[in-house]
Amino acid sequence: MRKITELEFDNTYRRLPEEFYHVVSPTPFDNPHLVCFNPDAASLIDLDPKEAEKNEFLEYFSGIGQISGSEPVAMYYTGHQFGVYNPRIGDGRAILLGEVRNLKGEKWDLHLKGAGRTRYAREFDGRAVLRSTIREYLCSEAMHGLGIPTTRALCIIGSDEKVQREKVETGAMLVRMAESHVRFGSFEAFFYREQDDYIMLLADYVINHHFSHLKEEENKYKLFLKEVVERTARLISAWQAFGFTHGVMNTDNMSILGITIDYGPFGFIEEYNSEYIPNDSDHFGRYSFENQYSIAYWNLKKFAQSSISLINRDEAVEALGNYESTFKQSYLKIMRKKLGLFEKKDEDSKIIQNMLSLMEVGKVDYTNFLRKLSDFSLNGKGSNNALRKMFIDSGIFDQWESVYIDRLKAENIDQSVRKKAMERVNPKYILRNYLAEVAIRKAVENSDYSEIDRLHQVLRNPYREQPENNGYSNPVPDWARNLVISCSS
Ligand code: AMP
Ligand code: MG
Repeated sequence: MRKITELEFDNTYRRLPEEFYHVVSPTPFDNPHLVCFNPDAASLIDLDPKEAEKNEFLEYFSGIGQISGSEPVAMYYTGHQFGVYNPRIGDGRAILLGEVRNLKGEKWDLHLKGAGRTRYAREFDGRAVLRSTIREYLCSEAMHGLGIPTTRALCIIGSDEKVQREKVETGAMLVRMAESHVRFGSFEAFFYREQDDYIMLLADYVINHHFSHLKEEENKYKLFLKEVVERTARLISAWQAFGFTHGVMNTDNMSILGITIDYGPFGFIEEYNSEYIPNDSDHFGRYSFENQYSIAYWNLKKFAQSSISLINRDEAVEALGNYESTFKQSYLKIMRKKLGLFEKKDEDSKIIQNMLSLMEVGKVDYTNFLRKLSDFSLNGKGSNNALRKMFIDSGIFDQWESVYIDRLKAENIDQSVRKKAMERVNPKYILRNYLAEVAIRKAVENSDYSEIDRLHQVLRNPYREQPENNGYSNPVPDWARNLVISCSS
């Protein structure tokens, strides 16, 4: 275990040409305080959790102090926002403090979000509000608990600093961790500036550090694109299978590693609704739940286009061609597990699709239905009443029930074995908007941060029965039914 002052930095990104970043230090907060701290993330860099109690920790992550060896920069990137190319993006308020190497030799970016203005801040203030940092902290750790690739969250530092959004709020900084923060937009930046040499440099950098198994391959750039396509397809399949909607799938929010990054106006599906739009400024539903599949592909095409100087067109088309099959295979694999199907059968897609359609008509809670499905009885005839009652029109369940019974009978798997397997993939707890909202209100109104920790504890083990926390699996209560989540952050 290391002290905060003993972290070992290896600032590889900083060794790229200066066009790749802006050298800038965080703008400190007055009176910073620790809002929450995550020992799970600390262990990734061998950081002793007791360090969080120290002043040095607070100073370092509120921009007051700097650990020797860290070399902060804001990363440069551009991207397509809502389908339109924006040449002026980049880290406007997040600063890569440095890259820490852990004892296993793994490299972790320490990224401070809300750290103050950088060269890329445009007209914005460089800050993040406490509300949005709590949402990112909780959701990224909830996603990790579910087993979905994501950035991690180390801690939130609060302050008295006032920040203007729809109303005046207080500022906070989030320390986020990822093996890399390079995005599709990092490549697009140099494509639109026609700097092919920098695209190659960036591709080599990413391959050497994060796709090192491709390093010696003769056609490494093609294989790199192919792998980015496949990782992205698998990521999106997990989002769809768990009901996660990102909300702002701009190409600058797409990780080159295929991890979930940049949590803003995201939301989990509660009552199943394929057209769910969590982002209240997404008026046409470009980033709705059901559009994520095709938007990710659109984004991948932009990425492929930006690396076209490294490969030929046919190779790009071939690599992109893997998207659909990888997605389908991966989605079906997860969904079969969720339905307790051990074997592959042709009719499975149809059974899953029908289930989703019925859930949509029946306004059924997606997560709770699948969790309860592990108690499904092959006897039928009223033995599945708890599930049946979840549909507003229970009759629509009956037909699907009999098809599902036949499908399960074809496998001859012991009910208790199936139940155990299903409970490992169907979470009891997800980050429902209202749960985050309760934690946020306590924090913002009373500086009471206890609910953040409590909710985090529930969500880090989403598959485990936690009888004392049963209430956290309840569907949205009436007071929160029409909750509008602001997309400002
Ligand atoms: P996001 O929607 O959080 O992915 O942000 C898109 C772009 O806007 C990124 O370049 C951010 O750095 C920048 N940005 C968002 N909010 C702010 C802010 N308050 N100050 C500076 N830059 C910001
Ligand atoms: Mg972003």
